[in-house]
Amino acid sequence: MRKSKKLKPKLFKRDGWHDGQKWLARCAFGCGEILNSDTATIDHWPIPRRLGGTLKLDNTRLACRSCNSKDIENAGYASQLIPPGLAPAQRQAWWREQENQRYSEW
Ligand SMILES: [Zn+2]
Repeated sequence: MRKSKKLKPKLFKRDGWHDGQKWLARCAFGCGEILNSDTATIDHWPIPRRLGGTLKLDNTRLACRSCNSKDIENAGYASQLIPPGLAPAQRQAWWREQENQRYSEW
């Protein structure tokens, strides 16, 4: 448990953005849920825990409790779609753009 408490802030810095008060991130499964440090859970990915995946920064991502408990290994890896090298503030804008595009297709 102590390990995952240290890991979460790092994951937020890697995949999320800071809204001025706290770190937020989208669920990596792409369900649209916005997570904070209380609601986020740590998902083992790309190597699942049952295959020996470790709880390290390069084998974890943030997911909502509901998606994480479904344990779908091949669900949309939204966090992998984020262009690498984006600053946290740019990631938020990027997500917003994806949503706008999704809704405008309807
Ligand atoms: Zn989710």
